[in-house]
Amino acid sequence: MKLYNLHALSGPVCRGDFLLCIQTEIMINMGNIKIVLLNLIPNPMIIFFARPYVTGATMQSAIDVADKLFKTRGILSTLDVLGEEVDREEDAHAACDLYLRTIDALGSRNHATVSIKLGHMGFYVGHDICHDNVESIIKKGVEKNIVVTIDMEDTDQTDFTLKLYREMVEKYPSTGIVLQTKLWRTNADIDLLDGITATVRLCIGIYDVPRYVYQTKPAMKENLLALMKKLFDKGHIVQIGTHDETIIRRAVDYIEEWDIPRERFEFQLLLGVPRGRIVNELRKKNYAVRYYLPFCERWDDGVAYLRRRLNANPYMMFYVMRNIMRGSV
Ligand SMILES: Cc1cc2nc3c(=O)[nH]c(=O)nc-3n(C[C@H](O)[C@H](O)[C@H](O)COP(=O)(O)OP(=O)(O)OC[C@H]3O[C@@H](n4cnc5c(N)ncnc54)[C@H](O)[C@@H]3O)c2cc1C
Repeated sequence: MKLYNLHALSGPVCRGDFLLCIQTEIMINMGNIKIVLLNLIPNPMIIFFARPYVTGATMQSAIDVADKLFKTRGILSTLDVLGEEVDREEDAHAACDLYLRTIDALGSRNHATVSIKLGHMGFYVGHDICHDNVESIIKKGVEKNIVVTIDMEDTDQTDFTLKLYREMVEKYPSTGIVLQTKLWRTNADIDLLDGITATVRLCIGIYDVPRYVYQTKPAMKENLLALMKKLFDKGHIVQIGTHDETIIRRAVDYIEEWDIPRERFEFQLLLGVPRGRIVNELRKKNYAVRYYLPFCERWDDGVAYLRRRLNANPYMMFYVMRNIMRGSV
C-alpha cells in the first residue's frame, strides 16, 4: 500500500492537513482495491448483475421491450447499443452500421428513439470518422422519423460533442443532446445553444471526473433543477434524467406552477432501476416517461462496456445490489 509522504508537503502541516492527507490516501487505496476486486469478477457474474439493466444480446430484445413498455404502460424508449470506446476504424463503422440497422428495424415506431455515444462512433480513432458516422445515423433517423440523441461522455469529449451537436441540430432539428449538471461549465454551455430549439437530456452525469465538478451529489442535483429552469426560460425542450424521486417531484412542482406545456418536457430513467411508484404517478398525469434500453449483439461487448463503467464508478455495484433487494421496475 502506498504511504503518504508528509515531508513532500510544502508549508506548515497542521493536524487538519494530516487527517485530510490520511483520509485522501485511504480513499485512493480503497478505490484501487475496488478496481482490482472488480476485475476479478467473472463474466457470468457481470452478466447476472447487468441483466435487469440490459434488454439482452439481440437488437430484437430491445425492440420487444420497447413495444411492451409502450403497449402496457404508455412508456417511451430510447435504444442504446452497449459498446466499448473503439480504437479501430472498422469497429467504429461496425457500431455505426448496427445503429443504422436498428433504425431500419424500428421502422415507423414513434415510441422509440436511439442514443449514441461518440466514443463508440470513433471519437478516439478520428474526429472526421466520428462526425461522418454520427451524421449518417442522424440522417437515417430523419428519413425514418426516429430521433437521435447524442449522449455525453468524459470531459475530453465535451467541446467536440457540443460543436458537433450545434452543426447537426441546425441541419436536423430533432436531434437531442445530453448535458451533465455535475460540471461547472454546463451553465455556460447552455448559452451556446442560443438561437436554436435544443432537446436536452439533463442528468448529473455518470463519468468520474475529479475536477471541474460540483463535489457533492446534492449540489449536482440542485444544479439540475436550476439548469432545467434556465433551459425552459430559453425555450428548449428538457428531458429530466434522474431516479431521485425528490428531484422528480420538485421538477413536477415547477412544471405545474409555471404551466410548462407537455411537449416541452419528459422524464427519463434507466431500465432496471426500480421506480415503479413515481413512474406510475407521472403516467397518471399523462406526462411522458422514457426508459433507456441498452442492448448488445454479443455479451462480450456488453461485458467489456459494463466492466469499464463499473471501474469508473464502483458505486454502481452497490446500487445494483440495493435495486435487486428492492425488486424490479
Ligand atoms: C435516460 C438516462 C440517460 C443517461 N445518459 C447519460 C449520459 O449520456 N451521460 C452521462 O454521463 N450520464 C447519463 N445518465 C446517467 C445519469 O447521470 C446517472 O443516472 C446518474 O449518475 C444517477 O444519478 P441520479 O440522478 O439518478 O441520482 P443518484 O442519487 O445517483 O441515484 C438515485 C438512485 O437511483 C439508482 N441508480 C442511479 N443510477 C443507477 C445505475 N446506473 N444503476 C443502478 N441504479 C442506479 C440508485 O438506486 C440510486 O440510489 C443517464 C441517465 C438516464 C436516466
